[in-house]
Amino acid sequence: MCGRDWSSDVCSSDLEEARALHDLPLTDLVFRAQEVHRATQPRDAVQLCSLLSIKTGACHEDCSYCPQSSKYDTGVEAERLMDVDDVLSKAREAQSAGASRFCMGAAWRSPKKGSRQFQQVLEMVRGVRELGLEACATLGMLDDEQTQELKDAGLTAYNHILDTSEEYYGEIITTRTYQDRLETIARVAKAGISVCAGGIIGMGETIDDRVAMLVTLANLTPQPESVPVNALVAVSGTPLSEQAPVDSLELVRMCATARIMMPNARVRLSAGRASLSRESQLLCFMAGANSIFFGDKLL
Ligand code: SAM
Ligand code: SF4
Repeated sequence: MCGRDWSSDVCSSDLEEARALHDLPLTDLVFRAQEVHRATQPRDAVQLCSLLSIKTGACHEDCSYCPQSSKYDTGVEAERLMDVDDVLSKAREAQSAGASRFCMGAAWRSPKKGSRQFQQVLEMVRGVRELGLEACATLGMLDDEQTQELKDAGLTAYNHILDTSEEYYGEIITTRTYQDRLETIARVAKAGISVCAGGIIGMGETIDDRVAMLVTLANLTPQPESVPVNALVAVSGTPLSEQAPVDSLELVRMCATARIMMPNARVRLSAGRASLSRESQLLCFMAGANSIFFGDKLL
């Protein structure tokens, strides 16, 4: 199972095999994930990423978990796109704090075509790369031209999360489809930009949904360069505000299963990490996580 090639078409046996993997006795699963990790990843290396919201709030999408959606009253103040110089000074701060990757997130459905704002983001990408940092962006859905402009600006990676399974997606987001998401991921990969795609657990999904999402991710060609594993941060005012906190051992299982199914990806312990104990975080690293966000904001 460890060396299984998942990059073929998704078929039901994938789901059965992935579910059997996910459900292994936890110590076996972590052991097997650690074996894969040691065979494919540099030992004891954890990538430090810093995430900056360059344009906050007032998003037209209705992602049920997101405090930045304009559909929900979460108290998040809408802020316009930051100035390039302000973003680059944050990037320098992140770099001196040890970040090797600087991630810029904008609360957009998609960047506006031909807009001054998008040109401003391209300037940010160029500036971050000139600092010697990897540049990642998460701006919503892209078209071919925008993707190529980001590539030409030197973008290292594009974050576009699948969130959950295709079956459950409509329960979480109704303003776009799973296919929309997969199309942007395919566009980004085709342009030669690394794909950062993962998901969230704790949104009321089933274990089968979690496993189906991992199978979809593992069957992307190429597989994602990095896979963020988020635990839902239940934000008041959003439809998911009353969700029970994620059991940290379920997060360990997701990290381990992602590691085995995507041996060459970075598995990123993302949203929700701040509420994990040191011991739970260590277990996630044993299970194959090797990248984190750090800084004052982890979403
Ligand atoms: N607007 C961009 C988009 O939707 O692609 C990115 C927004 S956010 C910076 C990046 C990711 O953080 C989201 O795609 C989601 O997976 C995760 N995230 C956002 N809010 C979250 C929450 N309350 N709990 C857990 N993960 C969250
Ligand atoms: Fe939040 Fe991004 Fe969804 Fe907008 S598209 S609501 S910013 S997660």
